[in-house]
Amino acid sequence: MIRKDLDALREAGKLKSAPYIASAMGPVVRLDDGREVVNLSSNNYLGLADDPRVIESAARAMKVHGFGTASVRFICGSFELHRELEREISAFTGMAASTTYVSCWNANEALLPTLLGTDGAVISDRLNHASIIDSCRLCNKNVLRLVYEHSDMADLETQLKAAADRPRRIVITDGVFSMEGDIAKLPEIIRLSHKYGALVAVDDSHGHGVLGDKGGGVCEHYGVAADIVTGTLGKALGGAAGGFIAGPADVIEMLVQASRPQLFSNALPPAVAGGALEAIRILRNDPALVATLRSNVAYMRGALKSKGLEVLDSPSAILPIIIGPTAKALEMSRKLLTEGVLVTGFGYPVVPEGAARLRVQVSAAHKPQHMDAAVNAIARCVK
Ligand SMILES: *Cc1c(COP(=O)(O)O)cnc(C)c1O
Repeated sequence: MIRKDLDALREAGKLKSAPYIASAMGPVVRLDDGREVVNLSSNNYLGLADDPRVIESAARAMKVHGFGTASVRFICGSFELHRELEREISAFTGMAASTTYVSCWNANEALLPTLLGTDGAVISDRLNHASIIDSCRLCNKNVLRLVYEHSDMADLETQLKAAADRPRRIVITDGVFSMEGDIAKLPEIIRLSHKYGALVAVDDSHGHGVLGDKGGGVCEHYGVAADIVTGTLGKALGGAAGGFIAGPADVIEMLVQASRPQLFSNALPPAVAGGALEAIRILRNDPALVATLRSNVAYMRGALKSKGLEVLDSPSAILPIIIGPTAKALEMSRKLLTEGVLVTGFGYPVVPEGAARLRVQVSAAHKPQHMDAAVNAIARCVK
C-alpha cells in the first residue's frame, strides 16, 4: 500500500532527496563525498550556526544543566536558563513576556487552539506556513476558520466583517513568506484588524535577524507593533531548533498554563537554549551583522540580474529565481549540486505550476567569491 504511494511519487519525479553534509552548516559545506559546495539553501542568515561564541555558550549551558530536563516544565520545573532566554526574547521582540517551545512548529500549534477557546475566529493569509495551517486545524471544531487571499487587504476586511460576532479573533500572518520572499503588509493588517477589534499575530521566522536595521524583524522594518509574535530559533537566531511566542503577560501566562505542546512535551535542551541565548545577544549587541547580510543580499541580487536572471523583488534574504516547469527547476537544482552549488528547487504543489523556482538564500557569512562562483554556475545551468 505505502510502497505503491511511494512508487507513484517516484514516477511523478516528486520523490525528494537531500544531501548528507559532513561539515557544519556554513556558507560552504562539505558533502559526505568530500566535495565542498556553496550553500545557498540554509536559513543561517547571520552565519551564527557555527559561530564559536554560540557553540561555547551551548557547551557551557550543558556543563551547568546537563543534557536535558527529563520532564515537562509544569511537573519538574524549568532551568534558570529558560527564564534568561525568555527574558532575552521578550527584550528582542519588545514584548512584555515570552515562552519557548521545542520548535516554532510547536509554538504555532500552541497558539491558536489555546487562545481561541471554543468560540473564537482565526483569519489566516492563504500563503501562511504549514504550521499555522495546522494550528487552525487543531482549534476546537466551533472555532471559525477564515482564510484571506494572499496579502489582499480588501479580502482581509471582508473576513474581519464575517467574524465580527465572535468574541475573540486573531488575524495571523507570516512576516516573510518563504516561497516568494515577500513580506506581510503589516501596517495595513494591524490598522484593519484593530478597527474590527481583532488581535494580530505575526510569525516572523524568516524576518528575525533579517529585517529592520537591528534585525528585529518585520515589525521593526515598518516601525509597528503586532499584538503577538512567534518565531524560530532554528534560522537566523542560532539555527539549532526551538521556537517562541512573545506577547502580553496574560497571553503568555495562558499559554504556559494551557498550551498542549508545552504541557505534554519537554523544555528546550540546555545546549539549544544556551546557544540561542548567545545568538540573540550577539545580534542585539552587533547590528553590523544585519548590515552585512543586507549588503550581501544586494550584491547577490545585482549579480543574478546582471546575468539576465529573473529574481523576485523583496526586502528579505530569500531570492527566488523563476524557472517555469517543476521538472526543470528540480533538474536544475540537481545539476547545480554537481557544479558546486547547493540551491533548492521548488515546484508544484508548493508553488503554482509554471512558476517553479530555485530559491536562493543569502547569509552574512557568504563572501563575494562564494556568491560570484554560485551566480556563474546558476547562469550556466539556466542557459
Ligand atoms: C521555518 C518556519 C517555521 C518552523 O520553524 P521550526 O522552529 O523549525 O519548527 C514556522 N513558521 C515559519 C513561517 C517558518 O518559516
